[in-house]
Amino acid sequence: MLTEILLPDPKHLCLNDISRPDEVIIIAVCSTQSQGICPGCQQPSQRVHSRYQRCPADLPVAGKSVRLLMTLYRFFCDNRKCRKTTFAQRMPTVLEAYARRTNRLTNQVLQVGFATSGEAGARLLTEADKIKLARHAKREQRFAMIQGLKKQGLSIREIARRTQLHRQTVTRYFKAKTCPIYREGVKRGSKLDPYIPEVRKRLALGYSKATTIFDHLKKKGFCGSYPLVARFVAKAKKCEQFGESSQQNLTVPLSPRRAAWLLFQPEQKMSKEDKEALKQMNQADETIAQIHRLAQRFISMIRLSEANALLPWLSDVAKSRIDTLKHFACGIEQDLDAVRNALCLPWSQGQVEGQVNRLKLIKRQMYGRASFELLRKRVIGCP
Ligand SMILES: [Zn+2]
Repeated sequence: MLTEILLPDPKHLCLNDISRPDEVIIIAVCSTQSQGICPGCQQPSQRVHSRYQRCPADLPVAGKSVRLLMTLYRFFCDNRKCRKTTFAQRMPTVLEAYARRTNRLTNQVLQVGFATSGEAGARLLTEADKIKLARHAKREQRFAMIQGLKKQGLSIREIARRTQLHRQTVTRYFKAKTCPIYREGVKRGSKLDPYIPEVRKRLALGYSKATTIFDHLKKKGFCGSYPLVARFVAKAKKCEQFGESSQQNLTVPLSPRRAAWLLFQPEQKMSKEDKEALKQMNQADETIAQIHRLAQRFISMIRLSEANALLPWLSDVAKSRIDTLKHFACGIEQDLDAVRNALCLPWSQGQVEGQVNRLKLIKRQMYGRASFELLRKRVIGCP
């Protein structure tokens, strides 16, 4: 009974010990799940590599702050095609990857912020938390709005139309049971990064032992650890063994959102790193390169109003094997005349949209209680 109250996820955690070395209560727990899912390839594994500990802050007890001392597993990934050799067990029900607070504590901190309209709460929060809070407040508002419309029986499409939000965004909030919390992207860098070309050069020359490469790098000024080099070399060898180009698998990963964003940027506005990342993405995967070319063509067609480029673009998309783009092109084809006119005529439907918007605003001000007659009078009567 007590453990059920104390532990964030009693089903997957087992209580080992509670201690109070000073002002902090430490609750030691361990995982009861003897299997993990590899984040690289989604395959389950039960082969334990080692144990590791995380120590996130949890909800306070009787005014004392609490830390969970979690002992979790590190598993081997036995999938030979996966680029991970081992992976850490994650507990998404308790806390996010890399998080230093449990989910339930994060939620409470956010709620304190809302309840005090950010005033007293804000003093408890750091600058970074404040930014997070503001973003979360926006999401919370959006969540409440979309759930409200859902209760009225509106479809996802209709909600997207009314709120002017992207349909995917609406879908996410529509299906969620609680307001979604997003984790920020983690940008990882390592001491090895500047030396990667040198390592590749040594590997290409036939020096495959990590120790020799490590000694060589140290002479060049590398100050990182040996395991860092060893891991990199092992991965490079694994890639080579399975006939993949090592270049593509060893770059620092971009978050999916950032990668997608890069595809739609005009090249002249990009920083040097972004250009390099884009180049690597394009080289690594022909589908991505294709998406990039098609996206850039579409954007320039819209910006420069090139109506003649529309049909060739649509036929090239139809020839591609990118389902999402095909789906999008299909939508355009259904409205082909309208889209073509939008590209070649100087007029737009902005006026009409504005009038529709005004009409809806007036209608909703009356909360649907008044008759059509009153609506008519108000629309015509007040310019
Ligand atoms: Zn894997």
